[in-house]
Order: sequence, then C-alpha cells, then structure tokens
Amino acid sequence: MIYLDNHATTRVAPEVLAAMLPYFTEEYGNAASVNHAFGWRAAEAVERAREQVARLLNCPAEWIVFTSGATEANNLAIKGLCRLGTLARPGTGKSAHPPGFVTNAAEHPSVLDIAKRLRRQGIDVTVLPVDRHARVDPQQVADSIRPETMLVSVMLANNEVGTINPLAEIGRVCRERGVLLHCDAVQAIGKIPVDLQQLPVDLLSLSAHKFHGPKGVGALIVRRDGPRIPLEPLFDGGGHEQHLRSGTLPVPLVVGFGAACELADDAVPRPLGSGHDVVERSRPLPDGRGTDSARQMAALRDRLWQRLQSELEGLSLNGPPLAKRLPNNLNFSVAGVDGEALMSSLKLIAVSSGSACSTAEPEPSHVLRAIGVSDVLSRASLRFGLSRYTTEAEIDVAVAEVAQSVQRLRA
Ligand code: PMP
Repeated sequence: MIYLDNHATTRVAPEVLAAMLPYFTEEYGNAASVNHAFGWRAAEAVERAREQVARLLNCPAEWIVFTSGATEANNLAIKGLCRLGTLARPGTGKSAHPPGFVTNAAEHPSVLDIAKRLRRQGIDVTVLPVDRHARVDPQQVADSIRPETMLVSVMLANNEVGTINPLAEIGRVCRERGVLLHCDAVQAIGKIPVDLQQLPVDLLSLSAHKFHGPKGVGALIVRRDGPRIPLEPLFDGGGHEQHLRSGTLPVPLVVGFGAACELADDAVPRPLGSGHDVVERSRPLPDGRGTDSARQMAALRDRLWQRLQSELEGLSLNGPPLAKRLPNNLNFSVAGVDGEALMSSLKLIAVSSGSACSTAEPEPSHVLRAIGVSDVLSRASLRFGLSRYTTEAEIDVAVAEVAQSVQRLRA
C-alpha cells in the first residue's frame, strides 16, 4: 500500500531513528538527574535537540518548551492563558468581564474543543468564520478584538485543505491591539518557512510526527523577547521545562524531534528578509536555491491533480488554488459516488476522507463544512498528503487507483 496520508502522520526518517536508538539502549539517563554522567549526557542531548528546534524556527533555545505533541502544546497555550485570566481577575482591579478568546472555524479539534470547554467555563469565546478557501481574514480578527480579549489563535496551515493563513498580518493586528497570538504551526513545518524573527506570533505549537520525527513529542514555543507571557502550567510536578511542563522528558523522542528539525530545515528556503509575507516566501525561490523537497512535493501534487482531472469528470478542488496552499496537500470531492464506497474501494493507497483526527465521529469534516462544501460532497472527498519520500511512480499508481475506483462506482 502506498502511504499518502502525511497530514495524519509521517514515517520516521532513517537518520532520525538512528539518532534516537542510543538513547533507548545505552544512554538511558534521566535528563533531570544531576548527580551522575548518565543524567548529564541525557541533559546534553536534550539541549542539543533544543538548539536544533531553535535553529529551524530561528529563535533562541530558551523559548522552547517540550511537550507530548501539539495537542498538549495547544492546551498549554490556550488554557494556560485563558484560565489564568479567570483565576487572576478577582481582586486585580481588572474589568468584571470574562477574558476573551478568539479563534476560527477551520482550526484543528485540539483548538476547537478547548474553545468549547472554555466557553462552558464562562470565557467569552469567538469562533470566526473562514472564507471559501478556509482563510482567516485579518480584518475580521481586528474587528473581533475587545478590551477583554486575551488571546487569538490561528493556525499557520490547515491540515485538511492546506490553506496558509496570513499570519504576518494577523500578528500585526494583534500587536497593534496588545493581544497575544497563538499559532498551531503543525502542518507547516518542513513545508513552508516558519521563522520567528519574521512571524509576529507569541506562542507556537509543533509536533515531531508530522515531519518525520517520532510520535509523542512536540513543543510550545513561548516568545521571550517582549513582555512576559503569563502562562499557567497544565500540571504540577518537578518543575521541568521552566516550570511550564513538569514530567520526565522522553529523551529518545526529544532527540528524534531535534534530528527531524534538522532534516526539515533543508526542505524549505530560508527567508529572504523582512517584508515578505509568509505566503510569498512559501513559493520556491526564483533562483532555485533551497526548497528542494517542498518543490518536489508541489510538482508531484500538481501532477496528481492534473492527471486525475484528465482521467475523471466531476472532480472539485476543496480549498485554495494549488499555488496558494501547502506544497504537499490535495483535497477534492468526487461527484456522483458514495463517499464510504469510494474509501473502501481504494486498496492500494492510504489516503484520508476529511481529517484523520476526527475519524472517531462519522460527521462530515468541519473544515469542508466551514468552506461551504455540501455534506454529500464532503463525504465523497479525498485528502492526499505527500511527503518528501513520495515518488512519481507512487503518484501514477494513485491516479490509476482513484480513476478505476470512481469509474467502477459510477458504472
Ligand atoms: N494541530 C493540527 C493542525 C494537526 O494536524 C494535528 C494532528 N492531526 C494536531 C494539532 C495534533 O497534534 P498531535 O498529534 O501532536 O497531538
């Protein structure tokens, strides 16, 4: 079976696995053990990984808080700030209004479900609509901010339709109004540049398993070159990770995360300097420098879509034009077939209908709904996620498989 579901997760790169293995076998020390060399070497490995993550994101290593992944990082960022708002209010002289949180309808469930919970707890939550490309409008963000708004959360790249949000503009809007901005950058890493010298975000979530690192590790990046961001930890314990995330660090996973960041770093061009919007910089450089795997994924994805369209009628692209989305994403609906029958007829390729993260509920994808795709077409939609390992031969098998299945189902 050909794996084309790289928005759900990715294979661990061989060099990442090789970097991790010694930390399962010989170097099994606890990075918090200060009394012996096992601990020191584990701590050194963790700090090396922290540097690798920092280099990828172009930020100081002190900004990185290791977590179990992006779900935890999103929870830490959003609950850590918004709950603090409710806790801190009595006696502080702040207004009696509940703190406000602004997000949008196309976020991952690990943000939207937090929003629902916060709303139940009395926090004033605004879920902005998105446009037909799943893009958040900076002006709507600006209009939604009120004096009690504490935090805005907007993803950099969408996991279903690959939309790249205008984070530079949204960040400017938030800064002008003195509101913190959190960004779920999970799907962007290794596909488009994510540079914290350029991106005006205060908190950023990432997850290693989305870019050829291991599952179960990620980070929240906490900006520290401005006013202190008053985060409340999710759990209490030994005070690891600057008292923001207690718990023994999974050293092998952290090492793998660092190695994956190094791998991702050569996938996308380094920024050209200030003034470039993130979408602008996500396009291949005109002189052909860098961006090799991003460019390669985009070329294969374009081939996939062109060939499918030449084989089949009645396909409709979901989300933004290909040139304006993640280089590895394709999402389309197939008219005139039953979605479930289509999925079960695809034996040779692993793809997703809607988001893998919400397969527990058979509901049509909330993102496709938010961009106005009918429930019938949402169910008959396929999401392809390519990786740096995807080959032309695999794409051609995928085209033949989808074309034959659809023709059979329509016959
Ligand atoms: N955000 C986005 C956009 C995602 O795609 C995912 C993974 N499906 C997550 C958050 C959750 O990440 P993790 O698996 O690390 O908890």
